[in-house]
Amino acid sequence: MSRIASVLLPLPLPEAFDYEEPDGMALAVGDQVAAPLGPNLMRGVVAALRDGAGGNRPLKAVQAKLDDPPLPERTLEFVQWAARYAVDAPGQPLAIALRGARAPRAKPVRVIEPSGLAPARATTARQQVLEAAAAASVSAAELARIAGVSAGVVKGLLDEGVLKARVIEPDVAFAAPDPARSPPFLNPSQAAAAESLGEMIAAGGFQVALLDGVTGSGKTEVYLETAAAALGAHPDAQVLILLPEIALTQAVIERVTRRFGAAPGEWHSDVAPPARRRVWEGVLSGRCRIVVGARSALFLPFRNLKLVVVDEEHDGSFKQEEGFIYHARDLAVARGKIETAAVVLASATPSLETLRNAETGRYRWLKLSARHGLARLPDIDIVDLREAPPESGRWLSPPLVRAMGETLGKHEQVLLFLNRRGYAPLVLCRACGERMTAPDTDSWLVEHRYSGRLVCHLTGFSMPKPAACPHCGAKESLASIGPGVERVEEEVRALFPDARVAVFSSDTVFDAREGKRLIEAMAAGEIDVMVATQSAAKGHNFPKLTLVGVVDADLGLRGGDLRAAERTYQLLAQATGRAGRRERPGRALLQTYAPDHPVMQALKAQDRDAFVAAEMSEREFAGLPPFGRLAAVVASDVDAARLEAFVREMAEAAPNTPGVEVYGPADAPLALVRGRRRKRFLVRADRNVDLSAYMAAWRARVRPKGACRVAIDIDPYSFL
Ligand code: ADP
Repeated sequence: MSRIASVLLPLPLPEAFDYEEPDGMALAVGDQVAAPLGPNLMRGVVAALRDGAGGNRPLKAVQAKLDDPPLPERTLEFVQWAARYAVDAPGQPLAIALRGARAPRAKPVRVIEPSGLAPARATTARQQVLEAAAAASVSAAELARIAGVSAGVVKGLLDEGVLKARVIEPDVAFAAPDPARSPPFLNPSQAAAAESLGEMIAAGGFQVALLDGVTGSGKTEVYLETAAAALGAHPDAQVLILLPEIALTQAVIERVTRRFGAAPGEWHSDVAPPARRRVWEGVLSGRCRIVVGARSALFLPFRNLKLVVVDEEHDGSFKQEEGFIYHARDLAVARGKIETAAVVLASATPSLETLRNAETGRYRWLKLSARHGLARLPDIDIVDLREAPPESGRWLSPPLVRAMGETLGKHEQVLLFLNRRGYAPLVLCRACGERMTAPDTDSWLVEHRYSGRLVCHLTGFSMPKPAACPHCGAKESLASIGPGVERVEEEVRALFPDARVAVFSSDTVFDAREGKRLIEAMAAGEIDVMVATQSAAKGHNFPKLTLVGVVDADLGLRGGDLRAAERTYQLLAQATGRAGRRERPGRALLQTYAPDHPVMQALKAQDRDAFVAAEMSEREFAGLPPFGRLAAVVASDVDAARLEAFVREMAEAAPNTPGVEVYGPADAPLALVRGRRRKRFLVRADRNVDLSAYMAAWRARVRPKGACRVAIDIDPYSFL
């Protein structure tokens, strides 16, 4: 009897497509196949098989079973679970899971080496080539470049047999990690945490733990011991370590390599496609046993995942906001459950969601109360900008400038933290008051001096800074308002001309390698003052850094969404926590106009618990996360009238369910993005409501027409 294969395709389709299984193909669930879709063939994954034929409409047949190994059943289950949770098409997470399968494999490389024969005719050019070839095995083109000769010289030596080519196959193996290689001596509180986590690993099965310790308390050391326990317990166990920033993956990769004597698989958007393919295949075959990566590593096809670590679990970067919308921390817990793996969430400032789970006993709660060794937490002082304002047109207050002078005088380092890229966040015309905005998006253009352009940070649109105001035509009238990191750098250079100053932001750090170089230069003391956005303010250890200046502590509090206070607290605690990581005591200065705000007071008193307690009771009162659940709907359309009609229809279609409140529709704060008008709904639900099911039912009742799109965001972090 023939069978029907339901094949999931990595596309935003509502469900799997049915195909006929050709005779003798012997498909199984998880198999990767080529399936016809319209005129094309697509890689897909068999999600289910059932007996039967296509009925009165003949089905297309699966074209071929691919050579690649099948996707593990639990990976497929996770992909389907994630789609259901996010109220999205299963093809969306599947596309992430197959990203590595579709990347090209590394090609063999042909390198040139001396054969040992002497050349019949020796010229200077030939001599240079032979010397270069003896020094390094590189390609013919590279050899010519190094030797500074034309390609013909190398070719001549090859033809003569003086040089020979050797083909090197790409190395797809992974060294086996050795859990016993170089364990650290843990201090007593680290040892207690490691022991408890070790018990969790030994017990096997799904469990979640919160590893809660101040910055520098040794959380990384502890979770690496947990990884060692997991790797040691099963010869084929795999460990995944998730980090919120690519810049942080580099440091952790190095620590993993040192600890286990084997480099882990690296997974994030900067990894070149062939290297991605190697990791994907290594994970699927089980050869790659440790992966360090960014959020999408969660979708890798692990065979035997035993531990997932989410480092800096509170970090908002774990939330993916475009395409398939998900929170990697929440999905990590779900994946742990599906894989029956342990999950460790690590943070100095855990999210309220995670703290709530720890408080209620759903998660094991392990605390590291002090910094390791002699390092102490920095003293945190507040600079009240109303009393000690910077000079006009400057951003650093006299107390901060004084502290910088003292620190630099002792040959110690300063980190100035400002979570704003570019030179100035706003450009306006002094003559007519016009603000420079993006043409198709509701956002102000940010001035970048390095590139001399005005940039929209939302869409990437950019234009040269005009010489005259485009609105009134006044010349030289455009004024830069407010500071970004580039402007603070300018001020530091003017104040301290001898200091070595560097800017760390996504505009100056283009890739993981550049980020690593800057971080290493800072760690080695080759930079005196680093001006950084959040990417450098997290996780790193800089031994000579003793002063952290927060240029605008109030920045994150504006906007005022649900998590503004929590996020500001977390970010500033992280940033200030960079100071004094070794024997030298550190201090941090927060520049603020709101010194009495609970966030500033909690930071100054270093009293996280009081802050969390106050924030929790507010959330509980309002039924907000972690005491209730939220979902957002963003509907968008190029046509304002059609959008208006659609959201009205959608409002009427909202199912009436006890414990669920629907707010909206309202204009989104960002009412226009890339030429599309946007409207929002916000849904609040009691904790016991299956919010994903509610949203799926709602969406099924409406059908957007034309260019109208609906995006659902479960547990939104952005309210724009
Ligand atoms: P966290 O992850 O909590 O910020 P880390 O694990 O990065 O802390 O530790 C901070 C610093 O202290 C690192 O340089 C780390 O190597 C060092 N350290 C922590 N615990 C130990 C230990 N038991 N033995 C040696 N060095 C340690």
